[in-house]
Amino acid sequence: MPDTTLTNSPIVAAYRERTPGSAALAEEAGSLFPSGLTHDSRRILPYGIYVERAEGPRKWDVDGNEYVDYYGGHGALLLGHGRAEVVAAVQAQMGNGTHYGACHALEVRWGAVVKELVPSAQTVRFTSSGTEANLMALRLARAYTGRRKIVRFFGHFHGWSDHMAFGVDDHYDGTATPGVLASIADSIVMAPPNDIDAVAQILEGDDDIAGVILEATGAGGGMVPLDPEFLRALRELTAARDIVLIFDEVVTGFRVAKNCAQSHFGVTPDLTSLAKILAGGLPGGAVCGRSDILELLDFDAAEAKAFEKIGHQGTYNANPLSAAAGAAALEIVRDSDACERANAAADTLREKLNAVIADEGLPWACHNNFSNFFIFLNPTGLDVGPHDFAPAAHSYQTHKTKSPLATRLRLALLVHGVDMSGKIGGSVSASHTQAELAHTADAFRAAIAMLREEGLLSDGEARSVA
Ligand code: PLP
Repeated sequence: MPDTTLTNSPIVAAYRERTPGSAALAEEAGSLFPSGLTHDSRRILPYGIYVERAEGPRKWDVDGNEYVDYYGGHGALLLGHGRAEVVAAVQAQMGNGTHYGACHALEVRWGAVVKELVPSAQTVRFTSSGTEANLMALRLARAYTGRRKIVRFFGHFHGWSDHMAFGVDDHYDGTATPGVLASIADSIVMAPPNDIDAVAQILEGDDDIAGVILEATGAGGGMVPLDPEFLRALRELTAARDIVLIFDEVVTGFRVAKNCAQSHFGVTPDLTSLAKILAGGLPGGAVCGRSDILELLDFDAAEAKAFEKIGHQGTYNANPLSAAAGAAALEIVRDSDACERANAAADTLREKLNAVIADEGLPWACHNNFSNFFIFLNPTGLDVGPHDFAPAAHSYQTHKTKSPLATRLRLALLVHGVDMSGKIGGSVSASHTQAELAHTADAFRAAIAMLREEGLLSDGEARSVA
């Protein structure tokens, strides 16, 4: 069913009715920013909400509407918005200065807790974002091996740098997206996830592979699940060829478990990229891993061993505010059951949403493990339901095909006070309680009723679920 127009939609009308302040800001933003946006994934038609305040698992827009938040700072807020210890640490640091142009104790404390929590982290280098962490990981892999190419997997997201800008949601043939040099795209070999034979063939047939990078739980933070056996086999294959295995744990780090996905799956990569939860809700990233690889950034090692060091700058690397927030947040993650609580809350949410889907007789499913969740809206009409959907059995193309229902479902959820990401899905935090989860299930049911009233759920899209 094509999502042809939003103009005559009662859902859109209800959304507009509640959000005049956001509409006005969106209008102004349209004259300032391309598409009125500062991040592609914040695009909602006809316009997104403008948020004024957030606390714990909730946030409020400029029109005073309250939302249960599953955007979670793009996954950065495992502890919820405004966790008291993190706020206090940042406020205290504000008074002491935001940038010293010098080393400081907080970066040491932050680095130490990263090293303590991440199994692969023998040494750590801070960056300002996940995109930058991955860029440095690629550079390290190339410099360490003296080889040129990187293997990536279809659908896996690693930020917006030139090396990563294709093969995620489009350009699956590996060709460069606009503005990316073809020579950079040529240095990336795209591989099918979960197909170890295909990867083995690539690695055997090319002696110029420096590194292999992947999202540890699968594309899109686990939306397209990765088989843990694949991870283990990949570890063996790469180790046998001295190829640097890089886990992008920007999403999964300190979320899947306090010791990250690598500890959960028992697979230790050579390098790990981190961001999001790492910096406690402020900007920050890090690459960490084998000290003999990160040594390529080390002045003394370069001199002693007579190699040319990798240069690395970055005005805001380990800035005191991010270090304060990051150290405070990671110490809470280390000393509490925050990951377990977020995972358990997400399990409950998945159960509740799947119960609604079953009641409504829809061929959809809420899935994933850990504290990210995704609602599969079944755009290609598979014969599946909430209790028999096996996400791993379906390709990245199936998972990534956008449902024509997605926009209006998302708007209808917003009308009922729930903000999810456009995938549709989100991250559950350790601050979500039973009250938020119950509210979300009610909102989901009400949103489905709006879709029905609008004639968007035809008989063909419903099936009876036992
Ligand atoms: N890697 C993954 C798996 C991500 O999800 C993201 C961002 O969402 C990035 C890298 C890029 O991180 P950043 O947005 O901090 O540059």
